[in-house]
Amino acid sequence: MRAEIKGLNEECGVFGVWGHIDAASITYYGLHSLQHRGQEGAGIVVTDGDKLNIHKGMGLVNDVFNTDSLQHLKGHGAIGHVRYTTAGGSDFINCQPLLFNSQTSSLALAHNGNIVNATALKHQLEHQGSIFQTTSDTEVIAHLIKRSGYPNLQDSIKNALTMVKGAYALACLVEDAMIVALDPNGLRPLAIGKLGDAYVVSSETCAFDIIGAEYIRDVQPGELITINDEGMHVDRFSLATNRSICSMEYVYFARPDSSVDGINIHMARKNLGRKLADEAPVEADVVTGVPDSSISAAIGYAETSGIPYELGLIKNRYVGRTFIQPSQALREQGVKMKLSAVRGVVEGKRVVMVDDSIVRGTTARRIVRLLKEAGAAEVHVRISSPPIINPCYYGIDTSTKGELIASTKSVEDIREEMGADSLAYLSVDGLKDGIGRPDNMPNCGQCLACFTGEYPTEIFPEADHPYDKVLGGK
Ligand code: SF4
Repeated sequence: MRAEIKGLNEECGVFGVWGHIDAASITYYGLHSLQHRGQEGAGIVVTDGDKLNIHKGMGLVNDVFNTDSLQHLKGHGAIGHVRYTTAGGSDFINCQPLLFNSQTSSLALAHNGNIVNATALKHQLEHQGSIFQTTSDTEVIAHLIKRSGYPNLQDSIKNALTMVKGAYALACLVEDAMIVALDPNGLRPLAIGKLGDAYVVSSETCAFDIIGAEYIRDVQPGELITINDEGMHVDRFSLATNRSICSMEYVYFARPDSSVDGINIHMARKNLGRKLADEAPVEADVVTGVPDSSISAAIGYAETSGIPYELGLIKNRYVGRTFIQPSQALREQGVKMKLSAVRGVVEGKRVVMVDDSIVRGTTARRIVRLLKEAGAAEVHVRISSPPIINPCYYGIDTSTKGELIASTKSVEDIREEMGADSLAYLSVDGLKDGIGRPDNMPNCGQCLACFTGEYPTEIFPEADHPYDKVLGGK
């Protein structure tokens, strides 16, 4: 299920291409396949070798671009961005890529993640005379790069990145190169591919399939990779790396047809469902998954438990952004726009309802009610990740700690509140085993902080909630 229903929001996707005659169109298609990572704004910056041109706006990729706007973006290199806003409303100014022009050169930045020491850096930079145009933490990186003052851009970026802490999958564009970097913890995914002679980079590999590109490899934590007409040059800005890829990319965010670090998301979710069936079996007649992100885990649960998988819940795909939503009163009367239970499947049945996570608990409660109203005899809720008890500071809007139901309530209390007949979560070990990352790294190279409170980076006191209190939204 996607963000607006559940309360977990991914904060952006980045895409870039170098060496293609129609870089803007390739980026448009790439962004389209990353749309699930952000639906509030989109933008593309393109270089023709002499200057950078930009087009961006609020809304879906399809709302922001048309044939005309793409035709005006001529060039062989481009970066693009899709964005999710957590605070404020239509803040076009924060739409990415951010483009900075100076007398000698231009620089565009597209960023996925969250800088946890952005507020402190911003104060310091303002004290030194910087004037900020946006409330985005990404602009902090641009000021740091500009102030680094090395004759070579790569050295300036390396110097800037040693000062920022947190999560960043970064794509930079200048007139004659595209440069990508990943934070030393590799919290967000970023992959490189080839499309003929052109290079492409993307938050997710699903974008490569759409444009017919071949996956080469994931960008490694601490790498700074320059791609220009001479090819690809790999450098590092940090050797003190500790891969901590966000577990929720596997559980919920990434598209099932993407792979992160060589692990296919659908297969990882299916394995999580299998582990869940081992850890939390129950006697039932059908297994169903909450569309879309929990279907794979439900299939895995069904396979291992031997209980048939059925399509017990249907998502209404055509609820657009401009659709007039029912008022609270109508909602209470049962007007449901986003999900429906399939009566013919669940009536009189003991149903296992697999979902990938519980944030505030309101969605799960509604779905249990939907299934019961459709005649389900019992509803057993199985969650393919551990309880979320801590907020995320790395670019996922998981609400404040107090809003996370599992941070204040026991599993039994949550079960009772949602009206389920039973409730069980996957264990942290089950999550690690199910995803199947190499076990020779701490935590299998995963961030587990929202489940364990063990944050892979220093957390700054002002970053009590990443977007409300750090910079007011990206
Ligand atoms: S805290 Fe949770 S949501 Fe945030 S990066 Fe870590 S695993 Fe992902």
